[in-house]
Amino acid sequence: MSKAKVATVWLDGCSGCHMSVLDMDETLLEVVKRADIVYGPLVDAQEFPEGVDLTLVEGAVSNQDDLKLIQKIRGRTKLLVALGDCAVTGNVPSMRNGIPVKALLERGYVEGSDVNHRPPTDGVPALLRNALPVHEVVRVDLHIPGCPPKADAIAYVVMEVLAGRKPELTGKVKFG
Ligand code: SF4
Repeated sequence: MSKAKVATVWLDGCSGCHMSVLDMDETLLEVVKRADIVYGPLVDAQEFPEGVDLTLVEGAVSNQDDLKLIQKIRGRTKLLVALGDCAVTGNVPSMRNGIPVKALLERGYVEGSDVNHRPPTDGVPALLRNALPVHEVVRVDLHIPGCPPKADAIAYVVMEVLAGRKPELTGKVKFG
């Protein structure tokens, strides 16, 4: 029997959600017995592959690159999970949403800088007007809140999905 394909993605987040994935400890060994990790910061893959069974998404959708990537991922993933409060609600990245992008960049790169005094233009994706929770951009099948989400909750979801069952998260997770 072929192994399932699991991916993780890091959008606009602090990597704390991926630290919780690593905190699954020995459950990670069970995961890799049953699935191949095919994309994400934990593996060296340049292109998000077709036919992924489960993708865990950390972070909000904040710039044009995030937007293109999450749309591609949605088209190539059976079960897409928003992992952590930034992916679920926008959380920390969305704190900038009340400030126009131009003013934000000027504050950071002009007023707040000792060098260059201009926002970067080369090799940096344009910010979206707002940092968005993933479900405002693409369909999300499951949300795992928490900042960071608990490793036990992530382990439960991944193992349930790999066993062909639908995870029931009521009472197992909370925001913050
Ligand atoms: S939810 Fe918390 S831990 Fe996860 S990326 Fe956002 S700030 Fe970091």
